[in-house]
Amino acid sequence: MCGAMHTDTSRLHVDHIAPHDGDACLFWETSNLWTVCASCHDGECQRIEAAHEGYPEAIRAAKMAARRQA
Ligand SMILES: [Zn+2]
Repeated sequence: MCGAMHTDTSRLHVDHIAPHDGDACLFWETSNLWTVCASCHDGECQRIEAAHEGYPEAIRAAKMAARRQA
């Protein structure tokens, strides 16, 4: 997973690293945001969120681990 950077920002998705679940603090916390490409957002991010549903810190840790491997 990539933390993708593109000059064409329409190709990027902003992902909440830990799901905000309606929490305004998490929603707007910039340290909880990163950009990924569409394939990571729709693939790896969703797979991790489904695997750790309800455990935002586990999701954050899994995404950070996936990012290091990219
Ligand atoms: Zn990607």
